[in-house]
Amino acid sequence: MSHNTIHWFRKGLRLHDNPALIAALKDCRHIYPLFLLDPWFPKNTRIGINRWRFLIEALKDLDSSLKKLNSRLFVVRGSPTEVLPKLFKQWKITRLTFEVDTEPYSQSRDKEVMKLAKEYGVEVTPKISHTLYNIDRIIDENNGKTPMTYIRLQSVVKAMGHPKKPIPAPTNEDMRGVSTPLSDDHEEKFGIPTLEDLGLDTSSLGPHLFPGGEQEALRRLDEHMERTNWVCKFEKPKTSPNSLIPSTTVLSPYVRFGCLSARTFWWRLADVYRGKTHSDPPVSLHGQLLWREFFYTTAVGIPNFNKMEGNSACVQVDWDNNPEHLAAWREARTGFPFIDTIMTQLRQEGWIHHLARHAVACFLTRGDLWISWEEGQKVFEELLLDSDWSLNAGNWQWLSASTFFHQYFRVYSPIAFGKKTDKHGDYIKKYLPVLKKFPTEYIYEPWKAPRSVQERAGCIVGKDYPRPIVDHEVVHKKNILRMKAAYAKRSPEDKTINKGEKRKASPSIKEMFQKKAKR
Ligand code: FAD
Repeated sequence: MSHNTIHWFRKGLRLHDNPALIAALKDCRHIYPLFLLDPWFPKNTRIGINRWRFLIEALKDLDSSLKKLNSRLFVVRGSPTEVLPKLFKQWKITRLTFEVDTEPYSQSRDKEVMKLAKEYGVEVTPKISHTLYNIDRIIDENNGKTPMTYIRLQSVVKAMGHPKKPIPAPTNEDMRGVSTPLSDDHEEKFGIPTLEDLGLDTSSLGPHLFPGGEQEALRRLDEHMERTNWVCKFEKPKTSPNSLIPSTTVLSPYVRFGCLSARTFWWRLADVYRGKTHSDPPVSLHGQLLWREFFYTTAVGIPNFNKMEGNSACVQVDWDNNPEHLAAWREARTGFPFIDTIMTQLRQEGWIHHLARHAVACFLTRGDLWISWEEGQKVFEELLLDSDWSLNAGNWQWLSASTFFHQYFRVYSPIAFGKKTDKHGDYIKKYLPVLKKFPTEYIYEPWKAPRSVQERAGCIVGKDYPRPIVDHEVVHKKNILRMKAAYAKRSPEDKTINKGEKRKASPSIKEMFQKKAKR
């Protein structure tokens, strides 16, 4: 049978290692590459202007790659359950392909869409390619329990063997006999909107440091993989949170949108490592991709993963409600230059180093402000280019010592931590020019500078730059005790959660299809 197929791009905004797209081209007469601007996302999540720009660029890049295959991207606005049935009819669709997405909204959306597809006689082919492994299988291989530690996950995936090798992008050969019906008004009807078309305020767009798209992702990957020695010696804890040029790959926004396949990233690293001495997980670059896999797995296995309440793995803490402190943190007005610099870089550029994320997350939660990690998660969700439902929630739980990590007595100092890798405060001076003229001695603690020094620096603390909103030495000790009390309240049942709970059976899309195939 010759199909009329929609390949639905959601994440996975790439042609390389895209098994669902390759499946779409098999026995196909007409292919419609589709992207839906689903209003659910802007309504229910926070998407900052820098991430919108990244997405639009990724779509443009995809469209230009599809053009080379004599195809085009169709961008349609509307909810999938309303739009897809219309397109099924209009385009006489017989097959729908897409990449499996494990986030809760995506799972429920895809279930609905699959029901509708069935009604319209449309065959559905979902494929796994966003993660290194099939996440459901990781849990199954762990006796149906969610692996609650990285080490446990490592041993489970080791037994599963290497991740699948990535598959090449479709070529003109794959497109033989396949065409995309295009009308003269394609651009008008299905073109990629601009930020202005979407009614977005572009006045706060930051510098254009990380353009979106697959081509840029692959170029950046090539660039990093040429640095053989750096790749082989990479140890995450030894990279710097405050270097002026990023000390890690900044491939995260590309992996998040699927402009870069995690499996391609994995196997390119394996090529670099081959025959050489190299670092190992958890600190190596392979190790970083396993961290991603770990949080994706726990996000699937733990219900209510992005919340404290109803999340059985998460320590229940009586976080304070302090809108002034939360706003000061979010708007880089805490009076701690290291913290304010990180939050400034985040807002302007959309990416901050992992250890910088540690510093501000610890400060907001258990370290200083005693504000819920869910509030921090929301701010990161808006401002990060790489904002990812599973990774954001998982890492916030880690940093707030709510889940996975329990050494709550180890608190980052908002003063000493940054000094370790940037004695002179060059990072601070770059992003907070108001402090530029402060002598090195006071750059991390400007409030300690004598008035005459503040005057010479042209910055009076309390007037031109805020005083610290808390006394770190006092609050962090108090907070350790509060955390101790929260831990003491846990029931013996909660304390065993680390061993992983047996998952309640909720058939994933993959499983449903396996069952269907067996029938
Ligand atoms: P590299 O060190 O070059 O690592 C390579 C890749 O491995 C990354 O691109 C990323 O895909 C993956 N990776 C690295 N570290 C982690 C990690 N700790 N957890 C999961 N995957 C990892 N990362 C996101 O992609 N999206 C988020 O929303 C996100 N939220 C975070 C929130 C907090 C509070 C913290 C502490 C960390 C968060 N991270 C998140 C994880 C991590 O900080 C970033 O993935 C990393 O800094 C991205 O930079 P990079 O690409 O240079 O990383």
